[in-house]
Amino acid sequence: MFSSEMYELGAHSSVIREIFEYAKKRAEVVGKENIFDFSIGNPSVPAPEIVNETIKKLLDTVPAAELHGYTSAVGDNSVRQTIAEYLNKTYGTSFRKENFYMTAGAAASLTITLNALSEPGDELIVLAPYFPEYRVFAEKAGMKVEVVPSDEKTLLPDFEALQKAINKNTKAIIVNSPNNPSGVVLDEDCVKTLCALLEKKQSEFNKNIFLISDEPYRELVYGDVEVPYLTKYYNNTIVCYSFSKSLSLPGERIGYILVPDEVASSGEIFKAVCGAGRALGYVCAPALLQYVVKECVGKTSDISVYETNRNLLVETATKLGFSCAKPDGAFYLFMKSPEKDAAAFCEKAKKYELLFVPSDSFGFPGYVRIAYCVSTDMVKKAIPAFEKLAKEYF
Ligand code: PLP
Repeated sequence: MFSSEMYELGAHSSVIREIFEYAKKRAEVVGKENIFDFSIGNPSVPAPEIVNETIKKLLDTVPAAELHGYTSAVGDNSVRQTIAEYLNKTYGTSFRKENFYMTAGAAASLTITLNALSEPGDELIVLAPYFPEYRVFAEKAGMKVEVVPSDEKTLLPDFEALQKAINKNTKAIIVNSPNNPSGVVLDEDCVKTLCALLEKKQSEFNKNIFLISDEPYRELVYGDVEVPYLTKYYNNTIVCYSFSKSLSLPGERIGYILVPDEVASSGEIFKAVCGAGRALGYVCAPALLQYVVKECVGKTSDISVYETNRNLLVETATKLGFSCAKPDGAFYLFMKSPEKDAAAFCEKAKKYELLFVPSDSFGFPGYVRIAYCVSTDMVKKAIPAFEKLAKEYF
C-alpha cells in the first residue's frame, strides 16, 4: 500500500528533531528562558543586513513575473558567473559558470550528486562522526555506506583505517570541514595526506574515486584557521555548497554543486547532475534566493557571536573536567560523555534543562553534540547548570 522504507524514515524523526520538539514542550512548562536548548544547528545570528536590503531592492525593481519565475534548471547564468568569479578571486581557481548547478541547499546538493554518481554496487565512504542524513541520501541513491571512524584523539581521519576501507567498489568519499558534529577543520597537511591516499587508490584500482566536499560551514572558522579549497588538491573533487549557515538562511534553501573541469568526465557528470535534479523533481533552485546570493556571495552573518560562545563553552567545560575536541569551526562542540552511554548522560543533563544530542546517531558513540548557535546570554545563563551536571561526575 505504501513504501515501508519511506514510512520508516517519516515515522522515526531524527534524534535531533525529537530533542528540539521536547525543548518546545518543556518551555511551555518551565518558561523558554529556563531551557538551555543546544540541540539544533539553526543559526541564531540574523542574516546580514545586505540580505534584507537585496530582497527589498529586488521586490521594488524586478518585475514580479521575472523575479518569481522559473530559472534555467542549472540556475541563472549571471548568478553562476558571479559565484565563479568570487571563488576564482578568493581561492585562485579558474571555474566557469558552466561548472555550477544551483540547488535548494546542501541537502539537495548532496542528494543530487549522489544520485548522479551512483551505479549498481557502488559504495560511499563517510568518516564518523558524520551528518546522519548522509546515510539517508546515499541509501536512497542506491549506494552502500561504509563508515570509517575518525581518530579518537584528534577526530581527524584515521588514514590507516581509511586505506583499508577503500576498495574496488568505492565510488566516493564525503568530507565535511568544518565538521558537524565535531567542529574539527581538516588542515592542509591532513588534506594532502587524504588526497595522496585517494590518488594511490585510484591507481591501484584503476578507477575514479570522487571526493565530495560538503561545505555548509566553510566560512564559519575562528581565529586564523583556514579551510583549504579541496579542488586545488585533488582533481576528482565535487563541491556541495550551501548558504544556509554562512548567510543564516537555512529555511530559504539555496546552495550549489560545483563540478570543476578537472573532474574526470566532468561534462558527462554535470549532465548526470542535471538529470538527477530533474528526476528528483527539483526543477530549479528558488529564484529569488538565487538573485539574493548573487549580491551577497562572500558575505557572512556576524560569526563573532559563535566565537564568543565557543570560547565560553570550551573554557567552562574544560574547567569543570569535561573534555572536548578543539572546535575550530562550525558551531558545534563535541564533548566526551563522562559515562559510557551518552544518551544516559543527556538524560542527566535534562534534569538541569540542558539539552544535548547524544553522538550515537553521528556514528561515533560516547560523545554529545552541543550546538552553540544560540545567544551568548543563554550560554552564560547555562553555566550554573553545567556546574551542577559536572558535580554528578567529578
Ligand atoms: N551537511 C551538513 C554537514 C549539515 O550540517 C547540514 C545542515 O545542518 C547540511 C549538510 C544540510 O544543509 P542545508 O540546510 O543547506 O540543506
